Amino acid sequence: MNFNRALLALSISASLLSLSACKQQADVTANPNADVTTKTPAASTNETADQFIERVNNEIRADYPEVTAAQWLASTNIGGDSEIVSSKANERSLAKLSVYIAKAKTYKETDPMTPETKRALQLLKLGVTLPPPNDPKQLAELTQLATKLDGMYGSGKYCTDPKDDKTCKDIGQLSKILADTDKSTYEQQLDAWNGWHTISKPMRAPYQRFIELSNIGAKDLGFANTGDLWRGGYDMPAADFQAETDRLWGQVEPLYKQLQCYTKNKLVEKYGADKGQIDGKIPAHLTGNLWQQDWGNLWPLVEPYKGVGSLDINSVLQRQHDVILNDMLKKQGGTAKLSATEIAEITRDADLAHAKQMAKLAEGFYTGLGMPKLPDSFWNNAQFIKPRDREVVCHASAWDMNFAGDVRIKMCITPTEDDLTTLYHEYGHVYYYLAYNKLPPIFQAGANDGFHEAIGDTIVLSMTPDYLNSIGLVDKPVVSQEAVINGQMRMALAKVAFMPFGLMIDRWRWGVFDGSIKPENYNKAWWELKAKYQGVAPVTARGEDNFDPGAKYHVPGNTPYTRYFLSHILQFQFYKSLCDSSGYKGPLYQCSFANNPEAGKRYWAMLEKGASQPWPATMKELTGGEKMDGSAVLEYFAPLNTWLQEQNKGKQCGWK
Ligand SMILES: [Zn+2]
Repeated sequence: MNFNRALLALSISASLLSLSACKQQADVTANPNADVTTKTPAASTNETADQFIERVNNEIRADYPEVTAAQWLASTNIGGDSEIVSSKANERSLAKLSVYIAKAKTYKETDPMTPETKRALQLLKLGVTLPPPNDPKQLAELTQLATKLDGMYGSGKYCTDPKDDKTCKDIGQLSKILADTDKSTYEQQLDAWNGWHTISKPMRAPYQRFIELSNIGAKDLGFANTGDLWRGGYDMPAADFQAETDRLWGQVEPLYKQLQCYTKNKLVEKYGADKGQIDGKIPAHLTGNLWQQDWGNLWPLVEPYKGVGSLDINSVLQRQHDVILNDMLKKQGGTAKLSATEIAEITRDADLAHAKQMAKLAEGFYTGLGMPKLPDSFWNNAQFIKPRDREVVCHASAWDMNFAGDVRIKMCITPTEDDLTTLYHEYGHVYYYLAYNKLPPIFQAGANDGFHEAIGDTIVLSMTPDYLNSIGLVDKPVVSQEAVINGQMRMALAKVAFMPFGLMIDRWRWGVFDGSIKPENYNKAWWELKAKYQGVAPVTARGEDNFDPGAKYHVPGNTPYTRYFLSHILQFQFYKSLCDSSGYKGPLYQCSFANNPEAGKRYWAMLEKGASQPWPATMKELTGGEKMDGSAVLEYFAPLNTWLQEQNKGKQCGWK
């Protein structure tokens, strides 16, 4: 679930909506939306800036629990009633927000105010990802377009016969075909990929208008265009931020190119030189992913050493689950004496008990760093498993219900490694909330928007084979070079493959917002950027009758994306700093700072700062430097980088 979607009309930052929708592949349930009417700012014109911000903080603190409660209900008990309650609550909170923003705009830089108020005013304005035009008619049109685009994506289906519903496939079914890179044929993958890209063709015209109106809103807020507003949220001039991302990409690009070359040559081995590549680029439908952003599904093709170092955590977790279940069944007299209903009840109890056991493992990592235990309310209120009696949104998310300690996760945990890792990730959000809960609500957000997703991922990097052994999930790992390379390749298919994608989405959007990419070149520019950064290409020309950017949720959903690129850089940088703090010496990829209070103290100190100061100052407290830096990515992947270079020796690399 992506909270921004629910607050589509004026989606605002996590500072006001402390729910982190996880993963860059957001879930896509459509959410109806209410119209928002802007009111003119409150007539009390005497309010000083300091008084205004104090009032806003107080009101947000008071109003917020109602919005989150309604939203929680809507996500954990899907239905018409909860939908009404949540959209009404959203409507009220959005109406208030637009009043705040209008009022915030009336204060001048030179007005007397504390530095904190100055920052809060800035955050209020910058937190808006969809800037509202002053003209109520334009605002209404913009919010309607936002809802429409969102709905078009959410209901997108590929039907071979549009008149027959049975021939339709949704994103889940199409993704599944692509994911099975081993069994799906070249043509099946191509058909699924092409099929999904038919859903966005009708988005082109509304999207173009959406951009125009959004830019009007940005100008009304004092920015050159919406891209300028988005880039403004990084405590530096927008142009400098763009250069920063170029510099970071420059650091990791050589590693990506090695991975791209190796993968491309594997595809050529499998499909032949005519089908496995396009002028050195990877065919867009052959990466196991609709957007070529995660190559994990290519594992069967690119696994360096067959079966080496596989930890098989899944079967260990399943065994633990079954032990709990069998114990419970035995206590109740055994299956022979129990009815089917009783067995189902007991199974559910066992599922919940085991899910909580997994959740305890994740909590143990954080408390091992000296962070507090999660409050009882967490264990009572969180959604750990999929209920049997109602529909829920299973997409993992982390929630702050009230800015005061009522934190939760919402998951449908199964005994799998994936879900265990997701727990460690979600807890990063949860502990961030707890650490900055004492700040005024406007400051309760990540230092910049890349930080929030990076916190838990940093912890996940520390889940080394040795750590997993220490919590009883795997046997003492046998260290071998082959196992190291296999482990690194798995990681690189997710993390390194993602980086250029994380960057190119907003490269395209910044161009669209500032007009350097014209509507008649939307698709051409998209594929030029895909080629430049990712080295991928479609097998047939994608003319301007298509609108391929719209096939990625965050474009019609209007969610900024550079944050995900930043988070991929930051998590390695944080990881290295915490390893250093823990006194670790040795190759970076083997470091785990688990149970190290010194590392925990430094991490917590950073989390506590929230968005209360410019992020470089916060960064400095942890890393000693004020800049984001990709060198830890290279240090981490050094063994794989060397290995890839050897594999690629004498092979054709690079692309046109
Ligand atoms: Zn997340």
